[in-house]
Amino acid sequence: MIFEHKLETPAEAMISITKQVKEAIAQSKVTDGICVVYCPHTTAGITINENSDPHVVQDILLGLANAFPRLPAFRHDEGNSAAHLKASAVGSSAVVPIANGRPLLGVWQDTYFCEFDGPRTRTFYIKVIEC
Ligand code: ZN
Repeated sequence: MIFEHKLETPAEAMISITKQVKEAIAQSKVTDGICVVYCPHTTAGITINENSDPHVVQDILLGLANAFPRLPAFRHDEGNSAAHLKASAVGSSAVVPIANGRPLLGVWQDTYFCEFDGPRTRTFYIKVIEC
């Protein structure tokens, strides 16, 4: 079973999509399996990280901006190579095990959609697999 979601994003952000992950698992009625969260974009990504202190998300974005600055030597015509680099570093998917009908996310973990080149209308998918 696959679920498609749309998001309106700002210029750059990490947006929690844990609620959508939990809803997809509940709707699928899968009690044991895995959940694949995937985004089909080249300047956005999916990751799992802390949900407690909002400074962590800000620090991740700041750290990525420092690790992948806009360089005059970049040749990509669209001018968003830094966003492409951040998307590759973060990755385009995350896998969460499901047990007893619940995602095995830690208490302090959320699943995030990461926007690096917004604002845009984005899509992400949640595939729930019984196994
Ligand atoms: Zn580009």
